[in-house]
Amino acid sequence: MHAATIPSLLWKVIPIASQSAAPAAKAPAFAGGRLVDTRGRPLRDLRISVTDRCNFRCVYCMPREVFDADYRFLPHSAILTFEEISRLSSVLVGLGVEKIRLTGGEPLVRKNLERLVAMLAKLDVEITLTTNGSLLARQAAALAAARLDRVTVSLDSLDDASFRAMNDADFPVAKVIEGIEAASAAGLAPIKINMVVKRGVNDADVVAMAERWRGTGHIVRFIEYMDVGSSNGWRMDEVVPSAEVVRRIGARWPLEPIGANYPGEVAERWRYVDGAGEIGVISSVTQAFCSSCTRLRLSTEGSLYTCLFAQSGHDLKSLLRGGASDEELRNEIASVWQRRADRYSEIRTAETAKQRKVEMSYIGG
Ligand code: SAM
Repeated sequence: MHAATIPSLLWKVIPIASQSAAPAAKAPAFAGGRLVDTRGRPLRDLRISVTDRCNFRCVYCMPREVFDADYRFLPHSAILTFEEISRLSSVLVGLGVEKIRLTGGEPLVRKNLERLVAMLAKLDVEITLTTNGSLLARQAAALAAARLDRVTVSLDSLDDASFRAMNDADFPVAKVIEGIEAASAAGLAPIKINMVVKRGVNDADVVAMAERWRGTGHIVRFIEYMDVGSSNGWRMDEVVPSAEVVRRIGARWPLEPIGANYPGEVAERWRYVDGAGEIGVISSVTQAFCSSCTRLRLSTEGSLYTCLFAQSGHDLKSLLRGGASDEELRNEIASVWQRRADRYSEIRTAETAKQRKVEMSYIGG
């Protein structure tokens, strides 16, 4: 896709009132005490993209040919303030959200993120963060002091040359490991370590990654390469199915499946039979988990997205900045969730993969 077409795609946000012929719900209806969508899925998790900017240019997420020096990131005035994020989060917690994940872009490039963490911590929900780890060593203690509960760090390879090629920012593995160690020392352990596996790029590193973190208490999660956004040129033959990852690691250290920690957990968990801990696999491509998806995403500029593979969002910022009351916000958000019917991963084909979808850096990974 031509770089110039991306920003206009990102700005395509449909006003809530025009999205459906059905009238917006006046007041939310709850089934069994929970707000549910058209497929009976409750709202539980909120992912907030606090910035669309990132200091990495991972080839599968923000390829440098698209996100180059001419790319127009959101201006500061378009981005939700911490106060606005906190207010919307409070309304969302009232609608059933139990867990908030801060993400991006790279969330730690947003200044004073610990101030937002401290504001959200008052809501009495679990607060987590997904980061590339590059700035974690210097921020981990402040984040923990602000009452961040846990952190997930992305690390695609232990081989420095492969890692630098994948992040395309010449960033070394050692600095990310420093971040993981600082987070662990600050009390944010156990840490989840995400590795996106792309065939022919880093799949040879799977067993080494498992070995590095076995016995540390940290949990590596192997993620199938997905067709998110419209710029990564995704192809099915570059996906390494989770079953193959489990087979490769299990051939070296036998594994057995274990149950989910909570309903709707995205990672399938496997434990080392010898007691050296566990790994996770996230199989969005080969084993879609749409039927148990309880996630809502809030974009950097204040739009709601009900699916990672969405083509458009629901503008909340206009309401927020137009003086809407908490009650009005609550009714609009509930109406979006109640009309939700997404199941992209269940119906994915080579054709749907070519659809113009919103970039992950913008709606939050
Ligand atoms: N910058 C942070 C980071 O690197 O973790 C947070 C945002 S990033 C978009 C969130 C997660 O999405 C990362 O673990 C990243 O590897 C993953 N991700 C990005 N693009 C992906 C893709 N095409 N398929 C699978 N996972 C992807």
